[in-house]
Amino acid sequence: MKIISNPLELKQYLQSQHATVGYVPTMGALHEGHISLIKHARAENELVVVSIFVNPTQFLAGEDLEKYPRRDEADKKICELAGVDVVFMPQSDDLYFEDEVKVQAPNVRGYVLEGATRPGHFSGVLRVVMKLLNIVNPTRAYFGKKDAQQLHLIELMVKHYFMDVIIVPVDTVRESDGLALSSRNVYLSKEQREDALKISKSLYSASQMVSSGVYDSYVIKEKMLEILSPLEIGYVAIVNREFELIDKVEIGNSVILVEALVGSTRLLDNIWL
Ligand code: AMP
Repeated sequence: MKIISNPLELKQYLQSQHATVGYVPTMGALHEGHISLIKHARAENELVVVSIFVNPTQFLAGEDLEKYPRRDEADKKICELAGVDVVFMPQSDDLYFEDEVKVQAPNVRGYVLEGATRPGHFSGVLRVVMKLLNIVNPTRAYFGKKDAQQLHLIELMVKHYFMDVIIVPVDTVRESDGLALSSRNVYLSKEQREDALKISKSLYSASQMVSSGVYDSYVIKEKMLEILSPLEIGYVAIVNREFELIDKVEIGNSVILVEALVGSTRLLDNIWL
């Protein structure tokens, strides 16, 4: 397995291989969720590239950029065991320039939900993902449905900028008790972890309501808010696959999203119906 930190070196290496490339961008502290993305990439492409880069431009002032878990050595081992061919580990200076040209999140869909609680976050995400996709030039790039709004905005960027990559959404991996895996789960104390389970519980309850014929968004959200009530809730929202708020769940075209603070840890989860 190769470890490369220089973007141009990676570009040259991949161009010389004339192979299909599956790409998994990450911020490291790899868990089973990331491994699932890697497995999909491994199954569908000749070469697999994983990047590990804690992208400063997607963190707002006062967020957890400094304390975000960094586990480079363990991550390299995980990649090696998962059959990754190249790990790309750039530094900020390798990717960003002075006074650079910037791609930005769209004014509406980039500033609702997660974009409303973290204004500017998605511009940072799209900036780095555009750079990374241009460096790796993958056949397919793999993103988790857990970050549903991020996935949607990346799909929009690829469409709006006529980019030549297939974006592959991958299902959320959970602990056996339902908690969605996240690198930020390491911040949770034992009690906070118990509290965090209310998030997936509220989503399961929503899914059960829909199965039993309740489609009204207001009714579903009320029940979810009741389950979530001890937590500080960022948002509970029901959107269609275009990320527009909807009054009624449409099976096959809806996502129910939750953002909640557990202690000072912001957790996201969602369910696709
Ligand atoms: P991150 O390292 O948190 O930026 O995540 C890198 C990629 O892994 C993103 O596409 C995430 O959506 C995806 N991801 C994170 N957690 C999970 C999970 N529990 N299941 C599936 N994919 C995930």
